[in-house]
Amino acid sequence: MRNARSFGGYGAYRSPRSAMQGVHPVIGEHAGFQDALAGFGIRHAIRSGVLAAECLLTGNDYVTRWKSELGPLLEAGIVNRWMFGLGGKVGMRIASRKLATGDAGGVLRRAYYLTTFRRLALPFARRRYRKALEDPSCSHINCDCVWCRHGDHGA
Ligand SMILES: Cc1cc2nc3c(=O)[nH]c(=O)nc-3n(C[C@H](O)[C@H](O)[C@H](O)COP(=O)(O)OP(=O)(O)OC[C@H]3O[C@@H](n4cnc5c(N)ncnc54)[C@H](O)[C@@H]3O)c2cc1C
Repeated sequence: MRNARSFGGYGAYRSPRSAMQGVHPVIGEHAGFQDALAGFGIRHAIRSGVLAAECLLTGNDYVTRWKSELGPLLEAGIVNRWMFGLGGKVGMRIASRKLATGDAGGVLRRAYYLTTFRRLALPFARRRYRKALEDPSCSHINCDCVWCRHGDHGA
């Protein structure tokens, strides 16, 4: 890489409540189906689309189906995000090493099991992310820094 420059941005997620608009099932990111840790949403978009189509065809209840089939993954993602935030640089180093040296697919799959620990941690993680994000580094007044666009802020 020549003249490498760091860059960054920010993402946001929200948890789906019903994923229904009136009588219409809503799918994908618009419904809130997105991994809270990494922002992954393609698989959730496809799975929720298939679920919605099946429910429309069969008359099954979409809310019950997505809550049982997608809900645990979304909840594990919320806990993972919380743990990622708590882990800081040390946690990042441990996670990177695990992903680099082992079977990354297996590591990631296991990271999304809603284990007893994750179930217990979920209320704390949810409480943490209910708050609006505060950005101590930037007042957003006359500032063109789109939250870490240039990657130099610690937040
Ligand atoms: C930079 C970046 C990298 C990402 N990397 C990954 C990744 O590696 N893996 C992963 O799983 N996810 C990734 N994601 C997230 C992933 O792209 C999204 O979660 C996923 O595409 C959501 O799919 P969707 O179908 O819900 O919405 P979208 O893909 O956003 O599709 C919605 C579509 O609807 C169209 N639309 C909106 N309003 C209207 C309207 N009124 N009329 C007609 N059309 C409309 C939009 O133009 C868009 O084409 C990434 C996202 C970004 C931004």
